[in-house]
Amino acid sequence: MWLNQEFILKKHPIVIAIDGTSASGKSTNSKLVAKALGYVYVDTGAMYRTLGWYCLQKRVDIHDAKAVATACRKWKTSLECVETKTHLRAVHLLVDGYYPDKEIRTAEVSATTSLIAAVPKVRDWMKKKQRECIQFGDLVMEGRDIGTNVFPDSNFKFYLDAKLEERTARRSADGIHENLAARDQRDSQRAAAPLMIALGAKVLDNSKMTSAETSEWLLTEIRKLMQPAK
Ligand code: C5P
Repeated sequence: MWLNQEFILKKHPIVIAIDGTSASGKSTNSKLVAKALGYVYVDTGAMYRTLGWYCLQKRVDIHDAKAVATACRKWKTSLECVETKTHLRAVHLLVDGYYPDKEIRTAEVSATTSLIAAVPKVRDWMKKKQRECIQFGDLVMEGRDIGTNVFPDSNFKFYLDAKLEERTARRSADGIHENLAARDQRDSQRAAAPLMIALGAKVLDNSKMTSAETSEWLLTEIRKLMQPAK
């Protein structure tokens, strides 16, 4: 294939994929890493949560995969890159022009989300949208299947985990009481793009680590990977 000069010189955006179990510190640390590198932060869990919340609002039967897939095909969404109050550049998925920031964080939405996230057509739709995020530049993208399914060619793949008791305590400290074990099980056992460690991913159990330590570890590993091979 003939490639023109402009294409050869084009720098492809970098995607840092951070996957892992619920409450393993993905969000806090992905934000810290994105800020340190000046990259755009993408919370793919928020995208799935927004669909879960939307289905609850519209009284879509969340146990009916066809009905959920239809809702996903028809909802009116847009992607927007915003600068947050804490000076983080982040991608938001808006539905009908609205970003349901607070509404998507309830235990009811969490439980609903892991059900609708198992629908293959929903996963296809989300993968496409998540790939579109590279229009905003270099990314730190967190989720469950970023390194395995959304950007499997990324050279920067991480998997965070922590002991269940520790993760449950972290969620309780945020005032959210939910059955994380049940959600992890649903996320790991679904047929379509289940939660698993991507090939080549660097794995960290941060049960005994602070977020400052976890983000430092991530940044050190990323800088090592960015060094040109000698
Ligand atoms: O990360 P967060 O807890 O916000 O994700 C909510 C739910 O969204 C997960 O439990 C999972 O079911 C789903 N999810 C997913 N794939 C992603 C991100 C989230 O299936 N990449």
